[in-house]
Amino acid sequence: MSDRESPTDPYAAEWPDLPLEAGAVEDDPDDIDLLADLASVGEGHRSGFVALIGKPNVGKSTLLNAWLETRLAAVSPRPQTTRNRLLGILTRDDAQVVFVDTPGIHRPRTKLGDYMVDVAQRAIPDADLILFLVDVSHPPTQADRRVADLLMAGAEAPVILVLNKMDAAQPERLEEHADAFRVLGAFAGEATISALNGDGSPELLERVVSLLPLGPRYYPAEQISDQQERFIAAELIREQAMRALRDEIPHATAVVVQEFTERKNGTLYIAANIFVEKDSQKGIVIGKRGAQLKRIGQAARTALQDFFHCKVYVELWVKVRKDWRRKDNLLRQMGYDRRG
Ligand code: GDP
Ligand code: MG
Repeated sequence: MSDRESPTDPYAAEWPDLPLEAGAVEDDPDDIDLLADLASVGEGHRSGFVALIGKPNVGKSTLLNAWLETRLAAVSPRPQTTRNRLLGILTRDDAQVVFVDTPGIHRPRTKLGDYMVDVAQRAIPDADLILFLVDVSHPPTQADRRVADLLMAGAEAPVILVLNKMDAAQPERLEEHADAFRVLGAFAGEATISALNGDGSPELLERVVSLLPLGPRYYPAEQISDQQERFIAAELIREQAMRALRDEIPHATAVVVQEFTERKNGTLYIAANIFVEKDSQKGIVIGKRGAQLKRIGQAARTALQDFFHCKVYVELWVKVRKDWRRKDNLLRQMGYDRRG
């Protein structure tokens, strides 16, 4: 008798129509590992979804990367670097925290902006806990107020006020700003941290874990994101492009990976298109005699090698798609699909 037929098989009841071929499970060692892994959590294990919400540029992606100890989320000094919902999965013996990094909530001016705000708002009702990130080195702005109102109106989960960038705040101003943020809503708690240098963030993580419900592991222990490797590669390349291009064409770029292949010698070959909106922007991305594109490619290669832990070849092409940020069909081609 195979394991599948045993009365204690938890899957037998859920999927009674599955063909019960003897040996079907045993054939794939990966499946066995996965089942063993999901079953291995002990008593008192906690799990849940934690949404990182806030206006653009307050440090949501920086905090996620710090907790995951990777560069999963694209970070840059430009606002609106994060465009899609991104799950970052932290697995420990006692807990699995599924962080939901979101684009900042802002007043949209393009269809891409619409899409980003929509993505952020949809993360709110699904969360077990919400971290409302703000930049405590400045007083609250209208944008912070809008986000707070949205959370107070729409969130059922507890909301923790996270006063980030304490390292950048003038000490005599910090309390004044903190007070001004505290009155924006009814918060279940607060923390003052620096996502950049790590002050306060390990303690906040422990509190986050303690506030999650008891529950199982939702994802295998080694999985750190729900995104495909291609998407992560595209994000890493886009991050380097945004850094290199600075204020020249802030949000006009999108990156789509065309080819992602592992070669026999263990190297990774990645070919990607960088899309811009105008012919003039194409010239800027390529630079004098290709110098800018070369810089982007080199920086991307370093970031990709760090992330994938292997040698990487990157080939980048620059293409014009007129006004892609304003057109639904082009947005979908770039991976920004509202229905997804
Ligand atoms: P997001 O738009 O909320 O995801 O913000 P990012 O994580 O992309 O960060 C925006 C900018 O703020 C980047 O330049 C970060 O390096 C910077 N930043 C994030 N956290 C901190 C912090 O704790 N202190 C300081 N000084 N800068 C930070
Ligand atoms: Mg971000």
